[in-house]
Amino acid sequence: MVVCSCNRDCGLYTTRQGENTGRRFYRCTRYKSLDGCDFFRWVDDAHHSSVDIKYQLFAMEERINRKFRRNELLLKMCVIVIVIQFILLLFKM
Ligand SMILES: [Zn+2]
Repeated sequence: MVVCSCNRDCGLYTTRQGENTGRRFYRCTRYKSLDGCDFFRWVDDAHHSSVDIKYQLFAMEERINRKFRRNELLLKMCVIVIVIQFILLLFKM
C-alpha cells in the first residue's frame, strides 16, 4: 500500500479519459477536500498491468464513434445541398 505525505493510505484509481486512459495512479483519499493533500503518483509504468486494457479499448471505441458521427453529419449535409440544388434547378426550368 502506498502512503501519502499526510500519512494516509492512498486509493488506487484508473484514468477514464484523455491520453492517459487506462493508466493507474495513486491519489490521497483527501485529494479533493479543502485541507486535503495533493499527493499523486502514477503506478510504475514498467508493469504492463498498470495499464488497464479495458479502458483503453473503451476510449478507442469512443474516438471511433465520434468520427463516425461526424462523417454521418457530413453525409447528411451533402444530401441536403444536393436536394436544394435540385429544387433550384427545377424552378429555373
Ligand atoms: Zn494525503
